[in-house]
Amino acid sequence: MRLSLPVLFTAFLFTVNPLQAQVTNPGGCGTVGMTDWFKWYADHRDQIIDERGGDTTWLYVPVTVQITGTDAGAEYYNLELAIGALHNMNQQFRDARIRFYMMPGDPFRYLNNTYWHDHDWGGGSDLINSNRLPNRLNAYVVKNPAGNCGYSWQDAIVLGKSCSGVNNTTWAHEAGHHLSLPHPFFGWEGESWDYSQPAPASIGGWNVEKTDGSNCYQSGDRFCDTRPDYLNYRWNCNQNGESVTVQHDPDSVAFRSDATLIMGYALDACANRFTSEQIAAMRNNLMTEHSEYLQITDPLQEISEDEPVELVAPLDTQYVQYNNVTFSWNPVPNASLYTVEVGLKENMLPRFIWQTVYNTTTLTVTRNIPNNRLLYWRVRPYSEWDLSKQLAPQQVGVFRTYNFAATNDLERNVLASLTPNPVSAGLPAVLQLTADDNMDALISVSDAAGRRCHFESVKLHPGENLIEIPTANLNAGIYFVLLQNELGTILKKLAVTE
Ligand SMILES: [Zn+2]
Repeated sequence: MRLSLPVLFTAFLFTVNPLQAQVTNPGGCGTVGMTDWFKWYADHRDQIIDERGGDTTWLYVPVTVQITGTDAGAEYYNLELAIGALHNMNQQFRDARIRFYMMPGDPFRYLNNTYWHDHDWGGGSDLINSNRLPNRLNAYVVKNPAGNCGYSWQDAIVLGKSCSGVNNTTWAHEAGHHLSLPHPFFGWEGESWDYSQPAPASIGGWNVEKTDGSNCYQSGDRFCDTRPDYLNYRWNCNQNGESVTVQHDPDSVAFRSDATLIMGYALDACANRFTSEQIAAMRNNLMTEHSEYLQITDPLQEISEDEPVELVAPLDTQYVQYNNVTFSWNPVPNASLYTVEVGLKENMLPRFIWQTVYNTTTLTVTRNIPNNRLLYWRVRPYSEWDLSKQLAPQQVGVFRTYNFAATNDLERNVLASLTPNPVSAGLPAVLQLTADDNMDALISVSDAAGRRCHFESVKLHPGENLIEIPTANLNAGIYFVLLQNELGTILKKLAVTE
């Protein structure tokens, strides 16, 4: 389990229950305990390593990323970020000769459920057990994993959106738990301690690891190539890659924790590696407890570096209907996932569209693209196997947006919407006007018989303008809201109810 910084202090309270639940609940939180598999491994590792020898084959782990959203399907973690997070994990696991790839034919799923998206431990358990898929690593990305950055539990990993940014170590940390690794500070989870004092010989019923290595296989995380570490909160590192906080072992020997370990709680920027003994444990876990993951023994096809995505349309400053644009491109050999970006500048910033599609070479967009603009777009190719094309150079297409449905220049230059509609008498209706330029206009409201009920002049600014239409003096019925200037007119019908 990894705690996010903002909840550093409160997370302490959050994690007390699952710790205890784990004791009474088989299959509880693997991230705070030591799994039965790991205890078996730690007790038999000499024999296991003798039998297997120095196995150097690559191990390939399929993953399905399950991204939650609200009941209404909002707030998803961006799919290209998920692809990037797996690619980043592959760098972090390279020394372990473990590579993650997306499950062919089932690389990602979206789950619309607010109870899962922003969950306590009950919601997390329900999320995992309702959706866990066989023969792969299940990685759930949610808004709030029970107050943590992430956790590994019930044979799945759960990651928080806000801790899943570029170059995070959250994913590798939780995958490390999933493949059996305890925290280096094992035994200290949930404890509080004055680190200026010598540590006790045991804490929470576990031996405390000494700096002289005399008890390293029996204490802490039961690895000897991870040094003692008692720090159970997120901490920053010094320039030597060690903790700022000095601790004292049971023999009063002072030491600092190793910040480079992904399984510790040093901040993401400090951590980058697994040790040889950790790697041996993870590989053995894959070959035994998770052997069903090992479905392929040879790499699949990569996407060539020399094949940028060839755009088909829209190109060459072609005009398109601003709220109904279909982007199309030619397929790239071995690619199955394509990320489409649309932006105001050639660097795609600000970015209006950032969407990854699967098994198709078109994307139709009906919202979020501004009208009357010169815009840029590009496409990046990925596949379930090849998650690496974030920086591959791509062709950039240029197009213009326009409102072909407009019947006059005012409609072409101003987008209008009126909400709520119908509106209850007495509550204001809001006329939202998105304008291209500064302009003056008149607004009038008339009833069905043509009698004027309201009139005002307004100044519109480029961008969004919100204008309240008062309804306090209107009887129930249909009204006409007219926006007018020298460019033309926009007419909206407004229904007022009792
Ligand atoms: Zn952890």
